[in-house]
Amino acid sequence: MTRETIPAVGIDLGTTFSAVAKLDERGLPLTLVNAEGDHLTPSVVLFDGDDVIVGKEALKAIAVEAPRVAECSKRDVGHRAFHKTLQGKKYPPEVIEAFILDKLRRDAQLQIGPFSKVVITVPAYFDEVRRKATQDAGYMAGFEVLDIINEPTAAAVAFGFQQGYLNEEGSTSEPQHVLVYDLGGGTFDVTVMEIRGTEFIALATDGDVRLGGYDWDQRLVDIAAESFLRRHKFDPREDPIAAGKLWRECEDAKRTLSVRSKAAVACDHKGCSARIEITRRQFEEATLDLLDRTRFTTAQSLKAAGLDWSDIDRLLLVGGSIRMPMVHAMLRQLSGKEPDASVAADEAVALGASLHAGLILAQRQGNPPTFTIKNVNSHSLGVVGVDPLTGRRRNGTLIPRNTPLPVTAKRTFKTRKENQRSILVEIVEGESPSADDCTRIGKCSVRRLPENMPAQSPVDVLFHYEPNGRLKVRVIVPGADRQIATEIVRENSLAKEHLDGWRKFICGLEPTEYR
Ligand code: AMP
Repeated sequence: MTRETIPAVGIDLGTTFSAVAKLDERGLPLTLVNAEGDHLTPSVVLFDGDDVIVGKEALKAIAVEAPRVAECSKRDVGHRAFHKTLQGKKYPPEVIEAFILDKLRRDAQLQIGPFSKVVITVPAYFDEVRRKATQDAGYMAGFEVLDIINEPTAAAVAFGFQQGYLNEEGSTSEPQHVLVYDLGGGTFDVTVMEIRGTEFIALATDGDVRLGGYDWDQRLVDIAAESFLRRHKFDPREDPIAAGKLWRECEDAKRTLSVRSKAAVACDHKGCSARIEITRRQFEEATLDLLDRTRFTTAQSLKAAGLDWSDIDRLLLVGGSIRMPMVHAMLRQLSGKEPDASVAADEAVALGASLHAGLILAQRQGNPPTFTIKNVNSHSLGVVGVDPLTGRRRNGTLIPRNTPLPVTAKRTFKTRKENQRSILVEIVEGESPSADDCTRIGKCSVRRLPENMPAQSPVDVLFHYEPNGRLKVRVIVPGADRQIATEIVRENSLAKEHLDGWRKFICGLEPTEYR
């Protein structure tokens, strides 16, 4: 009997577009088309009464029913609710992402049959809360998320595959340093990688989870809206429908400006209409600060990796927004190198994710890995303490950013009083010494400590980052013979029963074990 092969599927869950890839019978990654016949699915959701519509139709609806459309939900991941109320309801952003994933699954199934195991990509700069939320979205969409992988790493893997590095014969003899500049629709990531044989080692990563093509669109919207305002005394940005339509026009004009020196935007509002011409130069001037932010982060990340431009063998560009000529010009000027856009800008991430899925599935069947990935953490991990002099909440860093993963750090706490049975440790991620300026992961609650311990008894808390940047906590009381119960009580995360409820609602599946 032949064993049924499980498809190796990778999903690039993007801010503006998503893509699905799988490995074919020969192990070659390829992107799948959706039900509309496209390789990219707009990550846009329309709530239309009881119907939830995802993709192209939802994107079109922005121009006519913007208040019912959720776009860029990935930007809000990590927050309790999506910034916009949709049909009177506040949705958690990961639920909106789950609707997108559900559509991707249904469409892919039309071609490859039922499947549930996937790798989903996340920006390298996503913090732990956002990583968990992405896995939760996968669970709610009925997937078993094999792993999450950083987008620039996935792109580097796709690049390595394309170069033949993943075969024993083709693997690089000399270590190669690749800087991945990934400017997508809503996020910016830069990662410096070393490819050593079939090993992909991240040396440093940096980025901005709220910087991407969408911000460039908004600048065009502002230019057009202000021009309209000067002519007609009305501001189209004040009306959601007019603003939605204008945004669609501007996103289109932005693409035109990547290949032509000027583009026109049509704007209708309150019975007035205008055709506004925008030149590439005007666009570039209006967005220089955005580009500069990516320049600064790129330089920082190279420095964090301890390298110079002369050490970089490839400057790999990924993400749809790298098509803007200003990106190439800036990077050329910054690095003195010719940027390499040889991987498919919109598909490389999904392709790399499917290679990673293939690797995990093969390993589960007892096969040796054909390549390995080593990551770093993108944010420092700390615990909150109170400064006895100022009373301020301070962040005590335990694991600095850019530490190779997996990693475990131990912190010993002392009980304050006799027979103390619990300890609460607040965990944050971020670089600021002030705890309130960092991202709150949650509280690690240590319960049922052994009875009758004297005051000042040591309690060791072990903070463990897994290779994919997820955090696990363990507690050891020296001398105690049993495992102490502990869990991270999260603030901006859905409880298991809510995840199960959404899972049932979105894809009709029953709860299953999920941690
Ligand atoms: P991604 O998330 O990597 O698919 O990138 C999507 C972003 O790339 C969106 O903001 C698009 O507007 C942008 N994009 C796609 N094609 C172009 C182009 N030709 N010129 C400028 N931006 C583009």
